[in-house]
Amino acid sequence: MAQQEDVFKKLVSHCKEYGFVFPSSEIYDGLGAVYDYGQNGVELKNNIKKYWWDSMTLMNENVVGIDSAIFMHPTIWKASGHVDAFNDPLIDNKDSKKRYRADVLIEEQIAKFEDKINKETEKAAKRFGDAFDEKQFRETNPRVLENQAKIDELHARFAKALNDNDLADLRQIILDYEIVCPVSGTRNWTEVRQFNLMFATEMGSTADGALKVYLRPETAQGIFVNFLNVQKSGRMKIPFGIAQIGKAFRNEIVARQFIFRMREFEQMEMQFFVRPGEELEWFAKWKETRLKWHKALGLGDTKYRYHDHEKLAHYANAATDIEFEMPFGFKEVEGIHSRTDFDLSSHEQYSGKKIQYFDPELNKSYVPYVIETSIGVDRMFLSIMAGSYCEETLEGGDIRVVLKLPPALAPVKLAVLPLVKKDGLPEKAREIMDNLKFNFNCQYDEKDTVGKRYRRQDAIGTPYCVTVDYDSLNDNCVTIRYRDTMEQERVPVAELENIISDKVSMKNLLKQIAKL
Ligand code: ATP
Repeated sequence: MAQQEDVFKKLVSHCKEYGFVFPSSEIYDGLGAVYDYGQNGVELKNNIKKYWWDSMTLMNENVVGIDSAIFMHPTIWKASGHVDAFNDPLIDNKDSKKRYRADVLIEEQIAKFEDKINKETEKAAKRFGDAFDEKQFRETNPRVLENQAKIDELHARFAKALNDNDLADLRQIILDYEIVCPVSGTRNWTEVRQFNLMFATEMGSTADGALKVYLRPETAQGIFVNFLNVQKSGRMKIPFGIAQIGKAFRNEIVARQFIFRMREFEQMEMQFFVRPGEELEWFAKWKETRLKWHKALGLGDTKYRYHDHEKLAHYANAATDIEFEMPFGFKEVEGIHSRTDFDLSSHEQYSGKKIQYFDPELNKSYVPYVIETSIGVDRMFLSIMAGSYCEETLEGGDIRVVLKLPPALAPVKLAVLPLVKKDGLPEKAREIMDNLKFNFNCQYDEKDTVGKRYRRQDAIGTPYCVTVDYDSLNDNCVTIRYRDTMEQERVPVAELENIISDKVSMKNLLKQIAKL
């Protein structure tokens, strides 16, 4: 664990050092859980968004996009339940004066039991070597079973307390399991209280006062309130989906773990409208499709898992998370929810407008059911950085830090490096750049030794470097160097576009999803 935390710290400083993510307002000592994306970060982030957007709108004829405003009529948040129910249960430690989410403290306790099981299993795997049967071990080892029983018991009690909104029992669980404050190490806890996560501000100013509006805590509601607009203007037939990428704001209490939990973040959400009764079929389909989207990136299939929800929100009849193995454990990156007709019906009720679809095949009108896929851009960004970050020991003992980013997402695709800064090599390099810069993001670098320049490109995940040397002036060939293998090859300049385009193309990445 300590080692993993170490990796996480390194990742955070790498993000800063190489222009991916900076703390917001840093010269004023920062602003809690708010971050800025730097020159490389914004490229990676834009590529992630494009990958998602194209996978939704190009690969599905019946999914279209919108871009709704952040400010919305305040009644929307009444209808969605956010005004009354978008609360976190909070608890304070009286000694450290630190505030925590009670549910997170309990989830961390569950993770500790899981950790024990994993350690036990790892130890046994080492002991038994090839003969090790992990499944059998997990099903029969007494210490594993004992910890699993603790997890099950705690889980059941925790789910009940959350479902019943039983704040007293949430506190009692924390006391019973002797959960201590990570800062003070004591169990001197206050009562558990509810806290609303929405940021509020005021719009306009009239004699009667200003209108209290909220910064949206999710992008989904902008889709629901535009359901009729899109359906009618686009002549959309059920089933169809509406996708949106945009900022969301939550006054999170536990703002830790870098860009994993932020107060201002970005979501990519798609609401898919279906016939009532067909929602679970579509839920299963989107659950599978979304996992393929993640796996197509090639970061490793074992890094993902589903976490099906036992505790469902009152409006949902199925829900799962796609989790990624972050340096601090498996964590939710995306949620897929079957939300029934809760949202549209609620907006019907609050707005007084009929929000229904006339189904020509069934010859009747109904409020469609909804499957939602909801993923955080920033969490996705973090998972990709964590999954790509490698430290390799080279022959001779040097360490190379390399980001093995999926080439289609890498901020820079190609670095063009003249061997020396004279004798016409820079001009030749510029000529190559000028040709290729319309195809993909290229970077020119002539400073320091070629070895150092390779390292700089490795650190930002550039999949290809080409070096222009004296021979290039005569044979019109360059040395291409591959990031992951560090292999080098001599290729004609005229072939560069083909070689690189193929590997970095978003099109090929999208095609990869269909192959899985
Ligand atoms: P969590 O349980 O981690 O708070 P959530 O279940 O509240 O997440 P959703 O409301 O389902 O999250 O939001 C969908 C997605 O939006 C999440 O899977 C996550 O990727 C992203 N997300 C939610 N809250 C944040 C945040 N504070 N910072 C960054 N991303 C977030």
